[in-house]
Amino acid sequence: MANVSRDPILLTPGPLTTALSTKVAMLRDWGSWDSAFNAITARVRERLLDIVAGSATHVCVPMQGSGTFSVEAAVNTLVPRDGHMLVLVNGAYGKRLAKLTQMMGRRVSTFETPEDVQTTAGDVERLLAADASITHVGLVHLETSTGILNPLQGIAEAVARQGRRLIVDAMSSFGAIAIDAQAMPFDALIAASGKCIEGPPGMGFVIARKSSLEAAAGNASSLSLDLCDQWQYMEKTTQWRYTPPTHVVAAFAAALDTFDAEGGQPARLARYTKNYEALVGGMRELGFRAFLDPSIQAPVIVTFHAPADPRYTFREFYDRVRDKGFILYPGKLTQVETFRVGCIGAIGPEEMRSAVNAVRDTLSEMHVTRVAPAVPARAAA
Ligand SMILES: *Cc1c(COP(=O)(O)O)cnc(C)c1O
Repeated sequence: MANVSRDPILLTPGPLTTALSTKVAMLRDWGSWDSAFNAITARVRERLLDIVAGSATHVCVPMQGSGTFSVEAAVNTLVPRDGHMLVLVNGAYGKRLAKLTQMMGRRVSTFETPEDVQTTAGDVERLLAADASITHVGLVHLETSTGILNPLQGIAEAVARQGRRLIVDAMSSFGAIAIDAQAMPFDALIAASGKCIEGPPGMGFVIARKSSLEAAAGNASSLSLDLCDQWQYMEKTTQWRYTPPTHVVAAFAAALDTFDAEGGQPARLARYTKNYEALVGGMRELGFRAFLDPSIQAPVIVTFHAPADPRYTFREFYDRVRDKGFILYPGKLTQVETFRVGCIGAIGPEEMRSAVNAVRDTLSEMHVTRVAPAVPARAAA
């Protein structure tokens, strides 16, 4: 894909490299009261709902701010003040979900698996059967801190069988991984503009079950993050409740046009898969090893072990790769030294191959020869 600017390519999972048509859509100023702008908001909400086949049962409520603001709004509004949420944790975003739920005064339990191990439907079923006080389950679909994909379908079915409610952080999977609101029952699924739909950052959205949102009036302990009020105001007036991120909304609509033109979620997954294969294949040839087993890895962001070579430091590696036009992402693991590379954004396998070349040249400039990690490889299954 053409990157007409000389800006570095962002191999980070949001903000990410956007298409020119998305950037150009930000050149116009919109009045927040204007019907032309409010028609854009309405259309964006409908299209987001369609991506997860939710229009019969759910509504889409956009929220100002980064993705976390929408996660807080969903939890703060949908979990009653005397509710009890079980948060499934296998990375930093799961920890964040537990922390924000606790900070809002809701009772929280956590179930933690190692960062390279999925949460299973069996775990969830067992935990819910053992504790009737749990009202909600919080799940991070794609844990961006490593790239691991958790089994949403099975977990959603287990939560429904146990008669509890599910809140899904689908921030880095929405638009790339198939999600079906009818087949995977959830009360709320949250994502944001600047991830796999490839818009600019600045707004999030919650796909909320309509009946649950209606019943949640008065739950929120925050004014600006009251999802129910945001929804009712928008339904009544077509406007955002407080100042909307107008340029972001317009650019997000343009990004959705590109998404549709490309062929929607299946086409996006196919391109990201090609990006992932070009990246991992090239990096493996250089001697790098991925942190996760490929069977649980989503083609969205890849965690690589740092080279064992004492001449390697992330800072110098990062700076030199950036000077060649590619922005990498630091690792987010506490136990082992890693770095991450995103496969998402308006980029194709050509850009991934160029990024691998930049890494190769950087290793040679740094005289890094022992690229394999110091940690032993996982035992073969
Ligand atoms: C990006 C992301 C978020 C939101 O992070 P913000 O910095 O608030 O945008 C939440 N969860 C996951 C899994 C993410 O990838």
